[in-house]
Parts: sequence; C-alpha cells; structure tokens
Amino acid sequence: DAKENGKERVVIYDRALGDAKAAEYRLERDLRNAIETGDVFPFFQPLVDAQTRTLVGFEALARWNRPHDPITPDRFIALAERSGLMDMLGATLLEQSLEEAAKWKDYLLSVNISPLQLCNPRFPLQVENLIAKTGFDPHKLTMEVTEGALIANPEQARSAIHALKKLGIRFALDDFGSGYASIGVLRQFGFDRIKIDRSLVVAADETENGAAVIQATIALARALDVPVTAEGVERQEQADFLTLSGCDQLQGFLLGRPASASQVFRDFPLGTDGKPMARAS
Ligand code: C2E
Ligand code: MG
Ligand code: MG
Ligand code: MG
Repeated sequence: DAKENGKERVVIYDRALGDAKAAEYRLERDLRNAIETGDVFPFFQPLVDAQTRTLVGFEALARWNRPHDPITPDRFIALAERSGLMDMLGATLLEQSLEEAAKWKDYLLSVNISPLQLCNPRFPLQVENLIAKTGFDPHKLTMEVTEGALIANPEQARSAIHALKKLGIRFALDDFGSGYASIGVLRQFGFDRIKIDRSLVVAADETENGAAVIQATIALARALDVPVTAEGVERQEQADFLTLSGCDQLQGFLLGRPASASQVFRDFPLGTDGKPMARAS
C-alpha cells in the first residue's frame, strides 16, 4: 500500500545517499594519498605576449595522475575544498611550481590560489617560506584569484593580498566576466592584471554583441591602468581581434596547451641564447 511504498522509497533514497557518501569518502582518501605520493602536480601553460607572440611565462594548472578514472581540476579542487585538504594540496602545488619555475630563465609564473588558502591567516608566511626554500624571485610570481574568494571574506583577503604584495607578488583577477565583473573588486583589492574568462572570448566569436562586451571590458581595464590577459584563445582570428582590442597577453590552445614540467618548452623551443625562438605560425 501507499505507506509501504513510501517506506520503500525512503530506504532506497537512504541507500543512494549512503553510496554517494561512501564514494565521496573513497575519493577523498584517494586524493589525500595522491597528494602524499606526488600524484598531484602542476602542468604549465604558456602565457604569450600579444604583440610579438613570444613566451612570457606559464600558468601552473593542477593535474591528478589517475589513469583509470580521470578527474578534472575543477572537480578535485572542489573536493579538496570541501574535505579540508585544500591547504595541503595548495601547498604542494605551490612548492612544486616554484621549484620548477626557479629553473627557468626569465619567465613569469602564475599560480591559482583557492579562497580557502588566501583566507588562512598562515598563508602569507607559508608563501614566504616556500619562496625562501625554492629561491624563486617573488617579483616574477602572480597569484590568480576569482572574485568569489574576495566577496566571501573581504577583510581577510585584503590583508593577505596586502602582505603578499609586500613580498613583490602580483595579483590577477581570474575568470573576469564570468561572475560579477565588479569594478569595485578590481580597484579595492589592487589587482595588477585581469584575466578575461574564456566564455567572453567564445561569445565575442559568436555575436557582435559579444565582441562589443570584450572591447568594453578591455576599455574598462585600461581606464584603471590594469593590463589584460585573454584566456581560452583557440583560433588565430580570436588572437588577432583580442590583440587589436588591447589585450597585452594571450593564453589558450592556439598559443600552447598545458604540458608537464619536462615538456614546458615543447611549443617554444629555446634558441642558443636560452630564449624561445619565434613561433612558426
Ligand atoms: P583557470 O585558472 O581559469 O584555468 C584556465 C583553464 O582553461 C584551464 O583548465 C586550462 O587548461 C583551460 N584552457 C586553457 N586554454 C584553453 C583553450 O584554449 N580552450 C579551452 N577549452 N580551455 C583552455 P583546467 O586546467 O581544467 O583548470 C580548470 C580550473 O581549475 C582553473 O581555471 C582553476 O580555476 C582551477 N585550478 C587549476 N589548477 C589549480 C590549482 O593549482 N589551484 C587552484 N586553487 N585551482 C586550480
Ligand atoms: Mg587561472
Ligand atoms: Mg581563468
Ligand atoms: Mg576558470
């Protein structure tokens, strides 16, 4: 009868929930393990000067070596955030990225920082220690953060950014245009750069409206004297439009895909002077 059906449904629901919990718990355990064994590490994607199309640096992007069941950074970063593993994950990624980048000649390094890291009062000191340990010049380091991070805990974020800027570290507002696109945030936190979200770059391709939005966004950044990187550049036409519109830096599969530490200069073979040779295309 109805009552029994209801009961059954509750049981099934409970079991599904239990299964989901168990799966989440296993994934969490696997992530902790992977962090400890070095199975989570950075890939590096080229950042390219828009005018000359030469290499200026790399953005570190986390990868989890999990061949049997690949999992994207978006998912495992979120998992780390909900399960209290983000500080540990962020620290190992930052250390590995700085260690690698310390071997490069003059290239810049950009790293993504989770709001949970930024809002941990110990974070600035941890960064200072990792910089000392790896010998990477903090003036060549940029931290990328998203707006959400700042809106959730503005006082803590502001004080962390302030402390880190004193070390010479620069800040980029990541995924600009995908959220609030707040002028207030841009100014109040003293960002040194904005990164225009891939969704805007795609929209510029598809509609005239989208192109105007990109141009207005770049104009806004320029009015505030903040240079602009465009993300997700996949086609030559996009690169040319973005350059003409005033982006000074480009990033995307057209310019180079994320690659392992040993493959970073794959798309930009180094000449005898240790500088990357001009791209053929
Ligand atoms: P993000 O910081 O905005 O990074 C750019 C994303 O766009 C990367 O995805 C990159 O692989 C991808 N991408 C670059 N060029 C192109 C392109 O031309 N076309 C397309 N379709 N995609 C492109 P990925 O590596 O999957 O990372 C996704 C997000 O995960 C990142 O977005 C960032 O928010 C987060 N993330 C990655 N690594 C870390 C990390 O070490 N720490 C933290 N906190 N977050 C990270
Ligand atoms: Mg980023
Ligand atoms: Mg981004
Ligand atoms: Mg993103």
